[in-house]
Amino acid sequence: MMRHPTLNESYYSCIECGEPAECLYKQYRSNGLKISYCTRCEHPVDKYIEYDATIIFLDALLQKQAAYRHIIFNGGFKAIWKLGVVCLLCDTFTRWTRCSLTSRGAEQDLYTIAFISVLETFIFYCGILCLSVLLQNVESSVKKVSCSSTVDAVMVGSYGQLLAIAALIWGNSYISTMLIVALTIISQVQAYRAISMASMFSATVVIAGGTLCSHVTGVLLSEALSNSGWLSCPHTCLHHVSYFT
Ligand SMILES: [Zn+2]
Repeated sequence: MMRHPTLNESYYSCIECGEPAECLYKQYRSNGLKISYCTRCEHPVDKYIEYDATIIFLDALLQKQAAYRHIIFNGGFKAIWKLGVVCLLCDTFTRWTRCSLTSRGAEQDLYTIAFISVLETFIFYCGILCLSVLLQNVESSVKKVSCSSTVDAVMVGSYGQLLAIAALIWGNSYISTMLIVALTIISQVQAYRAISMASMFSATVVIAGGTLCSHVTGVLLSEALSNSGWLSCPHTCLHHVSYFT
């Protein structure tokens, strides 16, 4: 089985096959710009550099790995972490709103829920990084990618969490919550596959493993904080599984 080369951070990436590329286009004095072609698959390294941002977003929404590779490696987005922070704030706010339905929704609850969300997110990414490193050592076909690229990919794939605020405004229902959870997990799996070339099964195991670690941590922590009085609502209010029942 062929082993993919390690992706150097200073390189771009072919959106079709993930092969590192030195440039996306070449500039000639007489003929203007010429798109670079991949030395491996012979397709344009990144056709999206000529596309409108709306098309790129729609392709990401359609779960095309090429669109994720463009966003993560070639798009020049320097602050993907800001998307992660906004997702974290959305998660905290929707949980606090849910909590306030069964309690007085005190300000202290907001800070406690924010603490739980931050810790859950930290454990989620730690779990994914550990499983990702393990996968890279077990499966030779999986590309070795840096921790920062892995975190960036999963953050980009978490954009579905932003819809939680819209769902809150439109009336949180079982179906809308399920759709948001499904979209987020599918997007995270596809974004992870886009950078690692892992199979659907392996990528699902990595994302599901991180989600499980995060969920168990959240349940145990929120139960402890609820019992000690730091959280005025029942700890079950904060978790999707209990929310559905
Ligand atoms: Zn290629």
